[in-house]
Amino acid sequence: MTELSLRGLRKSFGGHEAIHGVDLDIPSGEFVVFVGPSGCGKSTLLRLIAGLEDISAGELSIGGAVVNALPPAKRGISMVFQSYALYPHMTVFENIAFGLTLKRRDKAEVDARVREVAATLELTELLERLPRELSGGQRQRVAIGRAIVRQPKVFLFDEPLSNLDAALRTQMRGEIADLHARLPDVTMIYVTHDQVEAMTLADRIVVLRDGRVEQVGRPLELYHEPANLFVAGFIGAPSMNVLPVKVSAAGAQGLLCDLGSDREVRLPLTIGGSPEAVQTLGIRPEHLVEDPEGVLAVTVERIENLGESHLIHARLPGGATLIARGSGAVSAAAGDRMRFALPPEHVHLFLADGRTAAA
Ligand code: ATP
Repeated sequence: MTELSLRGLRKSFGGHEAIHGVDLDIPSGEFVVFVGPSGCGKSTLLRLIAGLEDISAGELSIGGAVVNALPPAKRGISMVFQSYALYPHMTVFENIAFGLTLKRRDKAEVDARVREVAATLELTELLERLPRELSGGQRQRVAIGRAIVRQPKVFLFDEPLSNLDAALRTQMRGEIADLHARLPDVTMIYVTHDQVEAMTLADRIVVLRDGRVEQVGRPLELYHEPANLFVAGFIGAPSMNVLPVKVSAAGAQGLLCDLGSDREVRLPLTIGGSPEAVQTLGIRPEHLVEDPEGVLAVTVERIENLGESHLIHARLPGGATLIARGSGAVSAAAGDRMRFALPPEHVHLFLADGRTAAA
């Protein structure tokens, strides 16, 4: 069943339109992640869904009913913010109970519900503490507890982990994944800058750019089959290498590509349109394979050792730069010449307007 339906959703601030007509259907129980560069409209879209901003045009339905005019409290939604927004003078118990007591529930019922949620989030020992007596991760768990105690149908997260250190982020990411597994009927929408959070938590990722949806798909779908250069560059870290290419022939022998290396590359690929329309070749750093016979001749400019892997920053004779990721330690150094093979199954080709040159 579709839980959320966005139809031509628009938002203007004064004369400036920040969301330019977004269409999106989110089935009940799905975990959807909004990603995109700073200012692309992720938070605004989330706030439109929450009812914290008025919708300028279009229609938003939750559970089959149009909710454009419904105030936030009546939408069956809970939201968790980056800043936790806990009440500093209230204990953990009181903070979690707050959403319930506002609705004037029976005291015993409130007590039982808060303790149940606290147990789920491993907060039972901390119920009498004040927020200032908690770690960042514990505070964020209280914020999540306060949101789930209301038993929302839809759960919105606005960068909930961005104030935490790396280790805690990893732990909380796991906890949010567990929470989603324990609440299979609750629809979750999550805004993040973090690639790993997006790739690991999402059933589907929505890539936004300048207030428009660029692509919606499962994480690996976006990684393997980006619809355009923007998505190709945005999903994956470090970004996909994009090299200017001239395709001089296409046909049964495949594509003959000039990448500014010391020889042309023949790729056994087919494309939909004319070869001249192809302007860019993409290959991810992890798909460049070091090979003394490889078609890409480069000069190493810099090595980054990451421990379990390394990044080789290099330049082609034609001037284009690229990054290759290898495993373990590396013996190459700045100034070395190296060659890389270009596995055709991992090559992406793009047209002048950025769209994928689909076969
Ligand atoms: P970030 O990743 O930096 O948080 P974002 O993708 O969440 O960015 P939004 O905060 O949704 O982006 O902002 C989208 C656009 O709308 C931006 O151009 C922003 O300046 C504008 N905007 C957001 N809120 C307001 C507001 N209250 N008044 C005017 N403009 C706003």
